[in-house]
Amino acid sequence: MTVPSDSEKPDNRGGCPSWCIADHGNQTALEDQWHESNVTAVPVVEHWSHFADGIWRLSSDGVTFDVLVEQHVSSQAPWFSFGPSDDRERVLHLSPESIGRLVAAFEVLLRLIKP
Ligand SMILES: [Zn+2]
Repeated sequence: MTVPSDSEKPDNRGGCPSWCIADHGNQTALEDQWHESNVTAVPVVEHWSHFADGIWRLSSDGVTFDVLVEQHVSSQAPWFSFGPSDDRERVLHLSPESIGRLVAAFEVLLRLIKP
């Protein structure tokens, strides 16, 4: 049995990285053609301050962040993406190098608070 290469699959223009699960058949415009990994949902708490009734108040809310890897089909650069699952306009994209620095910074902070 011959398995078609990624570039021979009709819904996979140009081949996919091994982690891509995107349905490229629905991505018609070039700007919409992104490789996407599985999404990991991470519950977080969002805090924000606001001025109301003459005083500063702190509010918080539970939010679910979607965490995934994305890469435009015309690029070789993957981006780590995370943001509220109910608002795809509020997304941070970080390079693998930035994620490494962020993970290292969080590991330092975690060691500070561990007994
Ligand atoms: Zn893909």
